[in-house]
Amino acid sequence: MKPVIGLTMSPEDRPKKPYCIVSRHYVQSIVMAGALPILLPVCGDAAMADEYIHRIDGLLLTGGGDISPLLYGENPIKELDCFSLERDEFEIRLFKRALEKDIPVLGICRGLQVMNVALGGTLYQDVFSQIDNALGHFPKELPVDELYHSVQIERHSRLHRIFGQDEIHVNSHHHQSVKETATDFKVTALSSDGIIEGIEHTRKDFAVAVQWHPEDLTQRYPDFCKLFKALVDASTPP
Ligand code: MN
Repeated sequence: MKPVIGLTMSPEDRPKKPYCIVSRHYVQSIVMAGALPILLPVCGDAAMADEYIHRIDGLLLTGGGDISPLLYGENPIKELDCFSLERDEFEIRLFKRALEKDIPVLGICRGLQVMNVALGGTLYQDVFSQIDNALGHFPKELPVDELYHSVQIERHSRLHRIFGQDEIHVNSHHHQSVKETATDFKVTALSSDGIIEGIEHTRKDFAVAVQWHPEDLTQRYPDFCKLFKALVDASTPP
C-alpha cells in the first residue's frame, strides 16, 4: 500500500460560499513521489487534528496566508496580510501531534512558519519593512515555476543530504519569514540577505521545512521531487 500523506488546505471565503482549497501542484508532487495524497480541511474544531493524525503516515503543511502574530506575542503591523486563526490553531495542533507520534512532516512556505511558531519561535510579519536590505522574495508577476534567488544549504543537514548541493536556486513567494528560530529547530538554508529559507528539527527523524515552493518546481525542475520523495520514503512503513 502507498503511504498516505495528509495535505493541509486554505480556508477561502468566496462571494457565494466558503471553500477549502489547495494547489494541485502539491497533489501532483506527492503522487509523483509515490504516495497517496489526502486533503485535511480546516473543520471548525482543532481537536479534529488528533483524529486526522491517526489516519496519515506523513504530513505536508502547505503554503497560504499569514499567521496571526498574537500566536507569537506580537500585535499586527500594518503590512500584515490576511490570516485565519482557525487554520493557524488547526495546523499547530496537527504539527504537535505529528511530532508526538513521530510522523514525518514537510513544511512549505507558511508551513515552515507554522512549525516555527508552534514550537515557540517568532516571525517577521513583513520582511520588506522589518529587515534592512532585504532582497526580493515576492515577485508578484513572475510565474511560480521561475527560479528567483539562491539559497545556501547548511552542510550537516537533512536538506543537504536530500539535494547534495551547497547552493541551489529556488522560487520565492513570501513576505514573512522566521525571526527567532525555536530552540528545537536549526537553520538549514539561508538566502544571501540572511533570510531563513530552511529549518529542521534537531531531534526528530524528519521534520523538515523550506521557505520556497518546491511543489511549483517539480514539473520543470525534477530535482525538487527529491524533497517530496524524502518525505514519502520517511513515511513508508518498514
Ligand atoms: Mn525567499
